[in-house]
Amino acid sequence: MKANGFIGGIAAALALAGCASSAGSGSGAPPAQALLFPLRDVRLLEGPLKAAQDLNTRTLLAYDVDRLLAPYLKEAGLEAKAPSFPAWAGLDGHVGGHYLSALALTGAATGDERIKARMDYMIAELRRCHDKNGSGYVGGVPNGAALWDEMRRGSIAGLGKYWVPWYNLHKMYAGLRDAYVYAGSEDAKRLFLDFCDWGLRIIRGLDAAAMEAMLDTEFGGMNEVYADAYALSGDKKYLAAAKRFSHNTLFLSMAGRSDNLDNLHANTQVPKAVGYARVAALTQERAFGRAAAFFWDTVVKNRTLALGGNGRSEYFRPMGKDYAEDVQGPETCATYNMMKLTEALFCMSPDAAYADYYERAMYNHILSSQNPVTGGYVYFTPARPAHYRVYSEVNEAMWCCVGTGMENHGRYGAFIYAHTQDALYVNLYAASELHWAEKGLRLRQETAFPDEEQSTIRIQVDSPVRFTLLIRRPWWSSRQAVTLNNDDENYAAGAKMSSYIAIDRVWQDGDTVRVSLPMGMTVEVMPKAEQYAAIMRGPILMAARIPTEDGLDFFADDGRWAHIPGGRKLPPGSAPALAGRREEILEKLQHLPAVDGAPLRYRLTALVSGGHAGLVLEPFFRIHESRYMMYWPMQGSPPGQ
Ligand SMILES: [Zn+2]
Repeated sequence: MKANGFIGGIAAALALAGCASSAGSGSGAPPAQALLFPLRDVRLLEGPLKAAQDLNTRTLLAYDVDRLLAPYLKEAGLEAKAPSFPAWAGLDGHVGGHYLSALALTGAATGDERIKARMDYMIAELRRCHDKNGSGYVGGVPNGAALWDEMRRGSIAGLGKYWVPWYNLHKMYAGLRDAYVYAGSEDAKRLFLDFCDWGLRIIRGLDAAAMEAMLDTEFGGMNEVYADAYALSGDKKYLAAAKRFSHNTLFLSMAGRSDNLDNLHANTQVPKAVGYARVAALTQERAFGRAAAFFWDTVVKNRTLALGGNGRSEYFRPMGKDYAEDVQGPETCATYNMMKLTEALFCMSPDAAYADYYERAMYNHILSSQNPVTGGYVYFTPARPAHYRVYSEVNEAMWCCVGTGMENHGRYGAFIYAHTQDALYVNLYAASELHWAEKGLRLRQETAFPDEEQSTIRIQVDSPVRFTLLIRRPWWSSRQAVTLNNDDENYAAGAKMSSYIAIDRVWQDGDTVRVSLPMGMTVEVMPKAEQYAAIMRGPILMAARIPTEDGLDFFADDGRWAHIPGGRKLPPGSAPALAGRREEILEKLQHLPAVDGAPLRYRLTALVSGGHAGLVLEPFFRIHESRYMMYWPMQGSPPGQ
């Protein structure tokens, strides 16, 4: 690393992925408002998140790394050690990049040596491709050389013949960056910056009009990775490239606080906003900060369903009842990217609203997108009543959501905690242990959340240390109580909803904070479609399995469209409907005894349509390989407040 004072070594670099401006002195920027902890300093304890992480670790190891590497070797003119995967072959190379990110994340989160060895092998093989190419290129875009040559000469005429090539490359850029940021691989950093330099030579010949036209085609977070290259190197040529990859059609609208998202492809837009946030964090340029924050605001407030996902058939379609009819519901990738955006915005402006969204998206969409037995990943999560989802299988289906899915379950520790110089945020209620090395502190959070309505935070310190503990007061718990040791004082008293409760003191070894989190039940109507509603318990989306015919296939093959749950659609009228006002529906829920340690089960008795007596509400994230009810048709009078 260049000793230019821009960034303070690997420890600061480790904070990059979520919060960039950990050391902004080189750009004259003030420090970030909050930083995330390096993933390696947070360990999950037993619970649903750790179960998902452990299963995903095994899943990652089951993938054939030589098959994932084949596209890069092939493009470099080297002999592949195994055939590349046939699924989504035109996008060859994208999953390999995600896989590298996933290994870096999972290695940091778990310390698993097998994962580390796999990552090192991958980087060594990519190094061979880099050396053979001789240009800095380490992409897998099939027959990419012709396209890149043409672009270098200033033309994008051939772009349409390829499947989102910059999107594809972005995954390998991100993989190499992550292998450095999370796992400290200096080789990966060298490859990353060389690859960035290659990209600079490609876009140098494009004038502003050609660049803007090129960016009409999905390009992932190319602006994000160039901002990261600037953060890692301090070289402003990368910052200039990050800005060139802004895509003014979106950027100018968002910076002007105008929502032009109708009918735009969701997962094409979200990564651009992640890039705006990264540029804003590094430069303090207000237009970039405004664009990122407004994008988040309008997507979360106007375009998000109860599970925290957005879009249907991959697009930001105008909200309305069509969301309850489409079998192509929110795409997992778009939520993965919204969570990255949330992390970046939180670091610039640590507002509890960001953590409220993150919690909703993480527990209801991301956690639910992994099959808890096979480890397979979900692409679309339909909101359509009585529909279902399909899952990928290892070494098949090379979808985008397989790529982001590989990463998702290794990054649960990323946002549970955050810190400033002298304050520690508890953002999420999740069984975990944090090591805050600078303070000589270990914090252990013991909870069975969301199955129980409390969390206990135990402080271990070598010697007494002063800092402010900031405990999140979520939007959903009006009766939250926070007490310290055996004292009766309730620190939550009077605190406003969706905020942080501060305890500023000199912390002693053994200090214990108890957080009580009573969860209310609420009914949330679908945006612009009040005839459909979802039921939440605290932040947890509750749903019901409904009878599912034998032979419905939940596992996708290698087919181009196999990620779509394209089986029989039940007629809308056959789905169960809820009757009455909201409070009546909730009053009629009967709490049921726990089954297999899962206590959040309720019998719905407010149903009106026949043949559905005895449906059981449970957390959506536990419902798999089944037709389900997430949004319910509301019969009779419109739901009251
Ligand atoms: Zn996807």
